[in-house]
Amino acid sequence: CGIVGYVGKRNSQNILIEGLKKLEYRGYDSAGVAVYTTNGLKVSKAKGRLANLESKLGDAPLDGTIGIGHTRWATHGKPSDVNSHPHTDNSQKFSVVHNGIIENYIALKEELIAKGHVFVSETDTEVISHLIASLYDGDIVKAVQAAVQRMTGAFALGVLTEYEPDKLVAVRLQSPLIIGVGEGENFIGSDIPAILEYTRNVYILNDGEMALLTRDGVELMTLEGNFISRELFHVDWDI
Ligand code: GLU
Repeated sequence: CGIVGYVGKRNSQNILIEGLKKLEYRGYDSAGVAVYTTNGLKVSKAKGRLANLESKLGDAPLDGTIGIGHTRWATHGKPSDVNSHPHTDNSQKFSVVHNGIIENYIALKEELIAKGHVFVSETDTEVISHLIASLYDGDIVKAVQAAVQRMTGAFALGVLTEYEPDKLVAVRLQSPLIIGVGEGENFIGSDIPAILEYTRNVYILNDGEMALLTRDGVELMTLEGNFISRELFHVDWDI
């Protein structure tokens, strides 16, 4: 299973796919991407090999310069197109990729259904996109922080919202995630090989940390919102 993400000036689709290929060694049963396009936030996903996703994207490309991608190793809900990530909320304005498990997802799901949210998948992950949407008040970083406070379990997340289409939010809690720092472009990945083709400058996130990525920079902070300053790590090895 794996996560990739890109924000920059280039078309994101191929960067996401190439990154996911580098993470294939981690194992997966389905794959998907979400890209912010001129028609808003759009998702493409498919059960099975990355080739299935690639052929879907070949028929219906998602053009845009910010996106997230995922390879899934199902823990809750069978491998299927609809259970594949990214997951969205009912407004389709939020998009989430997740590695790990949300242990309290049943209680969260019941609470959100009572508020009128309609779930389409069998995954634990789908509660995250609905929860973020329900807590959103104009600031995606704050909404993700508030959502994470409600969640127990292990997770690495990549989050996009159509309301702030220049921002990519990443979270790490007991599932790996690294940040790649480029020039006018930044990346997330479950592991360094996913981004090594594009940059050798990385931040390694620790458990309980998150990041806000834009084209022009990366801010690291704790899940409580305290900013962190950290030296860039330079990768001097090749794959
Ligand atoms: N628990 C999530 C699911 O089953 C994420 C699995 C993963 O880490 O890929 O959809």
